[in-house]
Amino acid sequence: MRIAAVVTAAGSGSRLGADVPKALVPLSGRALVAWAVVSVADACDEIVVTAPASHVAEVEAALLEVEALTGKPMLVIPGGAERQQSVSAALDVLFAPGRPIPDVVLVHDAARAFQDPAVAQAAINAVKGGADGAIPVLAIVDTLVEAPAPTGELGATVPRESLRAVQTPQVFSGQALRAAHRDQPHAAATDDAQLVRASGGRVVAVEGHEWGFKVTRPSDLPLAEHLAAQLLSKENS
Ligand code: C5P
Repeated sequence: MRIAAVVTAAGSGSRLGADVPKALVPLSGRALVAWAVVSVADACDEIVVTAPASHVAEVEAALLEVEALTGKPMLVIPGGAERQQSVSAALDVLFAPGRPIPDVVLVHDAARAFQDPAVAQAAINAVKGGADGAIPVLAIVDTLVEAPAPTGELGATVPRESLRAVQTPQVFSGQALRAAHRDQPHAAATDDAQLVRASGGRVVAVEGHEWGFKVTRPSDLPLAEHLAAQLLSKENS
């Protein structure tokens, strides 16, 4: 069974306030996008990375070390204006005529660079078991309310027991993901499960992991740096 990974890293990461795109922010000497690739490399046969169009060469350079480390072929392409267009562009490459067609495609946000590799494996197993897709979810720890009115009046409390936070990697049957993207090019979906479900696919949940948080704000960097240092010392031991 051929498994391909798409790592989306074409966002600017403006909320992080760094002077380089988020994908290139160094954590223990390795770019964030390279950590994201390491988190899924064991689970797949090849990896397509979407990079900011202005920084394709820099992302390629940042991945050289982990390409050698993992032995998995990697291709960096320019991403699109929105995340969905970035994933579609990567699928165009993976499903190009003349290439071996992937049976399963895993889509992972580079921003979730430290996801536990066991999460990808659990999602892959669910798809091998017959689901069209499997995505990691986590219980919500905060109390939730609907957004306040302009006057500041709060909306209703939303029972958190009924909600889950969605992470990546999200794993799909290759054909189901390809068709979902092809049929809904303008859906403005923030994840791929939305597209696959809208085209009738059955998507199941697997347990996510707290390390799969999205590196987004400056305050996320100390934890990211800590996890990077820990993984690096494991790699070197
Ligand atoms: O913007 P958001 O946080 O939802 O982005 C999720 C992931 O998608 C990030 O890893 C980002 O780099 C990636 N992305 C992309 N192409 C875009 C926008 C975001 O690959 N045009």
